[in-house]
Amino acid sequence: MPTIQKKYDVLIAGTGVAGLYCALHLPAERRVLMLTKSSADKSDSFLAQGGICVLKSPDDYEKYFDDTMRAGHYENDPAAVELMIRSSPALIGELVDYGVRFARDGAGQFRYTREGGHSVPRILFHDDVTGREITSHLLEAVKKRPNIQIAEDCELLDVIARENECFGGVVRENASGKVFPVYAEYTLFATGGVGGLWENSTNYRHLTGDALGIALKNGIALEHIDYVQIHPTTFYSEKHGRRFLISESVRGEGAVLLDKNMQRFCNELLPRDIVTSAIRAQMQKDGTKHVWLDMRPLGERTVKEHFPTIYRHCLEEGYDVLRTPIPVVPAQHYFMGGVKVDLDGRTSMRRLYAAGETACNGVHGKNRLASNSLLESLIWAKRAAADMSAQGFGKGGVQPIDLAAYADYESLKGNYAKEIREEAEREAYCD
Ligand SMILES: Cc1cc2nc3c(=O)[nH]c(=O)nc-3n(C[C@H](O)[C@H](O)[C@H](O)COP(=O)(O)OP(=O)(O)OC[C@H]3O[C@@H](n4cnc5c(N)ncnc54)[C@H](O)[C@@H]3O)c2cc1C
Repeated sequence: MPTIQKKYDVLIAGTGVAGLYCALHLPAERRVLMLTKSSADKSDSFLAQGGICVLKSPDDYEKYFDDTMRAGHYENDPAAVELMIRSSPALIGELVDYGVRFARDGAGQFRYTREGGHSVPRILFHDDVTGREITSHLLEAVKKRPNIQIAEDCELLDVIARENECFGGVVRENASGKVFPVYAEYTLFATGGVGGLWENSTNYRHLTGDALGIALKNGIALEHIDYVQIHPTTFYSEKHGRRFLISESVRGEGAVLLDKNMQRFCNELLPRDIVTSAIRAQMQKDGTKHVWLDMRPLGERTVKEHFPTIYRHCLEEGYDVLRTPIPVVPAQHYFMGGVKVDLDGRTSMRRLYAAGETACNGVHGKNRLASNSLLESLIWAKRAAADMSAQGFGKGGVQPIDLAAYADYESLKGNYAKEIREEAEREAYCD
């Protein structure tokens, strides 16, 4: 790994879509350090299955807006929703320019799939590995940029702050345990979700909401930290570890939910929180640890062409979805709340930005509409980069920092986790 310098123009914590897209939109002459707690390809962005929403034609605007607001229980910020939807066609064009391939029909036109809460199909996809398709292309593009350095297995522990201004971050190199300051003119939180704090989650275990812990410690504004989304359908397993997601587009394409008597019990295409509640009520009524999801209505061709990863995973678990229903259970999946940001990704602390799942820009309200998060992460990451450039460089400086305060890593992380969970559990919205 190249040596980490003492000072950069921009420090980015996280190498998911948000971190990568911000880095790619910074001026080529600006020196950027990207930290990632694990290896660069271990982010939830790589796991996204279903797809990415787009405004597929101007006459879908009203419906797309309404679907997003309804799913979010009208707690969304309408200005943020409008910004996301109107920015989406250009964003998709940029991804295609980076080499991202979305499913197309015989005439070369985009194919669209559907998930719960969407009144029409408007989701672009690449098999059932859309996140990997997008994120791997962005990561490759970043690796070609000489101005961007990626430091793997390096963790942001804190911001260096004075009088509500950010001067960079305190970094821990996990292999050696070495802790040191990295100064930067601008810093971006792009540390993803909080699933690692939950026993049952579809997220990578190392995603523990670190930016939220740092924000709580430094008085940086947070919003809706109790809005935690539970995904209705993850593969039921007695094993510990990350839960395997059964994408909502499986239901969008015709899969049905069944109770213990193999009877349908809800409308599978309602927003996630409502389907989750219906499943929990059914499990309680039936006295079971899961319900069943029947993918047989999709037929062999759709299963094998659109959902090859899900098909393979279930086979490995002993279930052939072409012949039998699979056991599914709700699990923590997504975090709607986060570090409060404005339409340019600015936090309440000067020269500190946030984008992606760790940020709350108001798009999702109380409940995220399926496949809006990759889109929202990319758009806000790009806007944060543009705002940094517009604010200009040549600021900052070096502030003294007491590194002894970070000597006890375990207790620091334990405190962050405890405070985040306490905040999040104020509502009975999470499991
Ligand atoms: C199984 C699954 C399926 C999904 N399917 C879809 C979908 O179909 N469509 C959709 O729109 N969304 C989907 N999502 C949600 C979407 O993938 C995420 O919301 C989005 O990718 C978040 O991107 P991000 O860049 O904010 O965070 P992530 O991609 O999670 O990246 C976070 C990064 O931060 C790093 N990090 C964490 N803490 C620190 C720290 N302290 N210091 C340094 N680095 C740190 C991590 O190592 C990682 O690199 C899915 C999520 C999951 C889990």
